[in-house]
Amino acid sequence: MNNICYRCGSSNVLFTLFHANRSHERCTNCGHPFVRCFINFDVLPLVEFFVDKSLSLDNIFQLLHESSYERKKDDSLGEDEFNRIINDSLQTQVKPGSYKPITITSEILRSMNSQQVFVCKPLLPGEPVKLYKNMIPEIAIVLSPCCNLFFHAEDFEFACLRDKCCPFSRKKIKYNSGSYNVEAEQYLVS
Ligand SMILES: [Zn+2]
Ligand SMILES: [Zn+2]
Repeated sequence: MNNICYRCGSSNVLFTLFHANRSHERCTNCGHPFVRCFINFDVLPLVEFFVDKSLSLDNIFQLLHESSYERKKDDSLGEDEFNRIINDSLQTQVKPGSYKPITITSEILRSMNSQQVFVCKPLLPGEPVKLYKNMIPEIAIVLSPCCNLFFHAEDFEFACLRDKCCPFSRKKIKYNSGSYNVEAEQYLVS
């Protein structure tokens, strides 16, 4: 099976077994971890990144909220900057093993299309906030709010409507005007 790396664009032959720990599968050229849909296991067009360490989770959501206003002024500024930083990091990277996620500033985050940015809230205290950018907006992606796993939007929606829970963690999920929310902290017994 050939898979494209959405960070460096190289094509990869993957033999690794699917695993809940996503870090097991990496691009053989640049070391970026592959992110799969947890229903059909397709590789999703996501690239991981960090933001300036001084930003809290609230700061990050605030910046993304502001971005919808900023975008009207200049549609592609944030995207261009993001791609430039990725290209710079690819040029200075010596080998796949030295891969590190890029870090962007609050200004760049604010100028990105917030619809294509996913924020993984730390599941354990002290963990850094990891973000992902969808590099192919035509492919609709959902981040499950309970487990930090990604899904093709239509697969996730179908599973949520059918089972009323996250297909991975079985936590109750509520769909509300375009966004999915975890309903209290209880599990559905199936
Ligand atoms: Zn790569
Ligand atoms: Zn989940």
